[in-house]
Amino acid sequence: MRIYDTSRNEINGKTVCMARMENHEDVLVAPEGLGFQGEVRDGSVLAPLNHENACALRRLFPFTAPTRVLTAPRSFGVGDRLGLACPGHLRVFRKYDARPVLVQQSIRELDLTGRRYEDVLDCVTFAVFREGFKDGFGADGDHLKKPEDIEYALGLGFTMITLDLSDHIREDREGEIAPYREIYLNRVFDVGEGQTIRFDEASLKKCAGIYGPALDFAVEMYNRFLRDGKYAADFEISIDEISVPTSPEQHFFVANELTRRGVAFATIAPRFIGEFQKGIDYIGDLSRFTAEIEVHAQIARHFGYKLSIHSGSDKFSVFPAIGKATREVFHVKTAGTNWLEAMKIVAEKDPGLYRQTHAFALAHFSEATKYYHVTTNLNNIPALDDLTDAELPELFRNNDARQLIHITYGLILQNPALKRPLYELWAREEEAYAQAIDRHISRHLQALGCPEHK
Ligand SMILES: [Zn+2]
Repeated sequence: MRIYDTSRNEINGKTVCMARMENHEDVLVAPEGLGFQGEVRDGSVLAPLNHENACALRRLFPFTAPTRVLTAPRSFGVGDRLGLACPGHLRVFRKYDARPVLVQQSIRELDLTGRRYEDVLDCVTFAVFREGFKDGFGADGDHLKKPEDIEYALGLGFTMITLDLSDHIREDREGEIAPYREIYLNRVFDVGEGQTIRFDEASLKKCAGIYGPALDFAVEMYNRFLRDGKYAADFEISIDEISVPTSPEQHFFVANELTRRGVAFATIAPRFIGEFQKGIDYIGDLSRFTAEIEVHAQIARHFGYKLSIHSGSDKFSVFPAIGKATREVFHVKTAGTNWLEAMKIVAEKDPGLYRQTHAFALAHFSEATKYYHVTTNLNNIPALDDLTDAELPELFRNNDARQLIHITYGLILQNPALKRPLYELWAREEEAYAQAIDRHISRHLQALGCPEHK
């Protein structure tokens, strides 16, 4: 067996570390009596990477447990649907001065990948231990909509809750303005730096109608789980998964109502103008986006929270504007692009397996569109038969091909005939995947203007 040098840690003068066994599996190697379970060999416990041993590791070595990271100027979420991307991500955050949220998954992603929050968290615990990453990481229960899901995540020690209000948002509805009239109607709010927000009757009716019940729900969830430090977690308000962009007045209204009602939150994720589709660059009017993000960023600064940018995978054309408007104070979430990088490795290393997976994705595309909003045109994807093996990786420059592979991840991973050989390949190509993730996510941070560590 081969010991990972970066994993050596002392406790009571004894060493706990991780090793790769002859069968290519990783195990913890620990003295007896520390709470690790496993086969004992030469006086050491060879503890498999299961949930019980992850819990023991988190108890003994707090750097392997999640911590709150959203109060830092920059934080960056990297959803890892496969449980394989973490070593690559750690290379990124050793370079860039942004705090990572390494555990980040929605219930939809858990359902589609057949994983539980325990699995997602444990993968990260083992990876940070193996790599000796001691700077801390966050764990985000992403896009949660139900109290039982919030409780599930918090019970496992998650340090961030992203409350998705979309089930309570009533798009384009006008509401009763009576409860808000005195506070808002015909008043001008100065949010600083020459930016003002004003509400006339029409805009206030919309705010009340669209967000009224959603705000009540947010207050209820906050009071139930987070008020008075019941659980210590950062609170994010997500209003991004709706079809109508959040106007500056609506953004201000949501922030002001939450503040007025005593909700402490770290971030708000508005729905920006244009399209933030998964795994491809921004679609829309860049100059309008740039003008609006300036106002959104100023509103966030005025109240003292950070803007959160969702579906941040590959939005290279808008990253400079986001970095500039927020003055490099932001939270950005990515997920799909980590999966796409893994599939690109397949295209590079095992063309036959890639062709098989791609054909399966094409056959199941329409099934997958019920989970994700995309505008993919399959006719824009070259036929596999017209491509040489060497040309397959080029498909990852094609937006329609990217989205095809992006949204079908759940169906691909639910198919054992694909899942098994894919995981075997990724295990063999661990170093290539870590390099690809490092390169690709580093480009995101660079484009956002994130400084490097001094
Ligand atoms: Zn979102």
